[in-house]
Amino acid sequence: MTTDEYIPFTKPTISKEAIQEVVDCLESGWLATGPRTQKFENLLAEYFGVPCVQSCISATAGLLMVLESIDLQPGDEVITTPMTFAATANTIVLAGGTPVMVDVEPETYNIDPKCVEKAITKRTKAIMPVHFAGLPVDLDAIYGLASKHGLRVIEDVAHAMGGSYKGKKLGSFGDTQVFSFHPNKNMTTGEGGAIVTRDEKMRKHINYLRFHGIDRESWNRFAKGGSQLYDIVLPGYKFNFMDIQAALGIHQLAALDGFNAKRKELAERYYSLLKDFSELSLPVQPSYDHLHAWHLFTPLINEEKAGVTRDEFIEEMKKHNIGIGLHYQAIHLHSYYRKTYGYKEGDFPHAEFISDRIFSLPLFPKMTHSDQDRVVGAMAKVFRK
Ligand SMILES: *Cc1c(COP(=O)(O)O)cnc(C)c1O
Repeated sequence: MTTDEYIPFTKPTISKEAIQEVVDCLESGWLATGPRTQKFENLLAEYFGVPCVQSCISATAGLLMVLESIDLQPGDEVITTPMTFAATANTIVLAGGTPVMVDVEPETYNIDPKCVEKAITKRTKAIMPVHFAGLPVDLDAIYGLASKHGLRVIEDVAHAMGGSYKGKKLGSFGDTQVFSFHPNKNMTTGEGGAIVTRDEKMRKHINYLRFHGIDRESWNRFAKGGSQLYDIVLPGYKFNFMDIQAALGIHQLAALDGFNAKRKELAERYYSLLKDFSELSLPVQPSYDHLHAWHLFTPLINEEKAGVTRDEFIEEMKKHNIGIGLHYQAIHLHSYYRKTYGYKEGDFPHAEFISDRIFSLPLFPKMTHSDQDRVVGAMAKVFRK
């Protein structure tokens, strides 16, 4: 047991300026979608270098609206990875599609383009890669397959805000990207998400879907004396972003590259502190011109060498007041996916190998070197080094 303060696996960094902006927003009387949301969307568009970004209440809502916009019919397939959060696969189902999972690359834990290619059928409509832990997917291969087979690409960038692929920022190119601003992610607005798409029809549809199916483009509610009239063009959701969230987001976005630089520095320090830990295999570093967003630092445990199971390790670290994350138990082995689609053990050997051994070490911008030394010291004790 220890009297040291608890180190969580992650925690957000909220500046005084952001807190003041939230207070200002509350005092302004405009709490829901309004001028701060508009400003935040403009700043995001500038960040990505794109004409338009759409905010929404969460990445889950964003993924759902994007998938609904491609009009999946019963039996239409979307290829994705089992190494992801529930939202990726769930939204495919909720949008009326069939999730087709394929195995990941053993080194990157990202979807394997060779497995994607084998899974493409006449019913395939889209590929949904996830930039796992912040490490960019092999997008040249994915977009190559998509153009060869006429498929949409919906990138789940929940882990990789601020990351880049071959020198190009994720979100600045390609088909459609969805970002998350949940407090665990690289920047936060409490709950929140954003969508970038180059598909004008999708953009318009999402504008309707995120606010009751109301045509707001002909309904200028910011103008004084703006018309109270509107038209409902489809049955939409209530997925719009709030100015309270935007008040945080404006400051989080300005700090993002600094946060990510700190994450990178800490990740590099983990590599040097853990290099002699034969109980672990450390995640790969990007091999070419990628900027890893270092959302997570995810070693695999070698239980035989460690003398403890992964789950015992997580429990032991808790006794040292250290929070270890688990991202993720492979999606295809959850009961809904087994029952509904017949997935079973052995379907995706790489994903299952990773899923059985993976854990996430504490990593967040405010983490100090002494926090990190404590984490590594506790691991040495648990492994009886
Ligand atoms: C967090 C996460 C989501 C969902 O994000 P929310 O904003 O919480 O809805 C989707 N996909 C992945 C890979 C995630 O990690």
